[in-house]
Amino acid sequence: MGWGQEVKVRFWGTRGSIPTPGPLTVRHGGNTLCVEVRTADGALLILDAGSGIFPLGLHLDRTESRPLQAHLLLTHTHWDHIQGLPFFTPAHVPGNQLCVWAPRDPRRTIRELLEAQASCNNIPYHLETMAGQLLFRELAEEEFCIGKTRIRTQFLNHTVLCLGYRIEADGQVLVHCTDVEPHLGGLLRKDRKDSGLASRDRSAMREGIMHREDARLVSFARGADLYIQDSMYTPEEYSSRRGWGHSPCDFAIDVALAAEVRRFVLFHHDPDHEDAFLDAMVETCRERAARYQDPPQVLGAWEGLEIDLQGPLPGEPGAP
Ligand SMILES: [Zn+2]
Ligand SMILES: [Zn+2]
Repeated sequence: MGWGQEVKVRFWGTRGSIPTPGPLTVRHGGNTLCVEVRTADGALLILDAGSGIFPLGLHLDRTESRPLQAHLLLTHTHWDHIQGLPFFTPAHVPGNQLCVWAPRDPRRTIRELLEAQASCNNIPYHLETMAGQLLFRELAEEEFCIGKTRIRTQFLNHTVLCLGYRIEADGQVLVHCTDVEPHLGGLLRKDRKDSGLASRDRSAMREGIMHREDARLVSFARGADLYIQDSMYTPEEYSSRRGWGHSPCDFAIDVALAAEVRRFVLFHHDPDHEDAFLDAMVETCRERAARYQDPPQVLGAWEGLEIDLQGPLPGEPGAP
């Protein structure tokens, strides 16, 4: 794709847990998680290094003429978020630089965690054999800058230390929150779930939020031009998967509504969800959003989805 002056986002991997190639996932994609972000000042940010970072690397090999400088923002080190890193070909090229940002684990450095992945028992490579320069930065809840891009982090409710990223550049805001689970099963108190809908006022939803940590999540996402959230389960599936660290899609869309975001993308698709099933989940979220004034645009992430944060939404790919 050609990159202009706006902040642009491209999805290279949308699947949670395990890659799921095949004809039944061909539209939403089978690669695990990876999102590319380009800012107007030319910074290349990569959110997570699931298997989707492999085709991104090949794309960069073909299109980048200068030595590459990239920033990899890891949410956490579960496999589906790092399994593609050894195969990120630009990191094997002398002169290229990859700065890895990740949550600070008090027990092990991020370098040690990634070296454990790179054990010869798992895969025949070591971090030292990567010919590019690797830098490591560890994060708690804080704010920092990469060029003119301001980035804020916040811990998410997951089974290990996991960071959400709020990326602000050129007056545009992207918020990326995966993997994350509600604290009390849903966002809104039961009494607000019905009466709140009657008001059709998205800002009024914030009065009905059940748990203060979920309110923090809403604040973190507030006003985003694009909000990407783990939406792994249907509400029915979630009832038997509480504590697994992931969101039902009704919680995710409620966060998007309460945070008054402009666009919401369902992300971290369950490996068992085929394209038609995901289409139905997206439609359910759209219907829920349509009960409110000025609802956000709602999409289910697919591999190859490109979004210009200030531009119109692209059309969805047709059925094969
Ligand atoms: Zn995951
Ligand atoms: Zn995880």
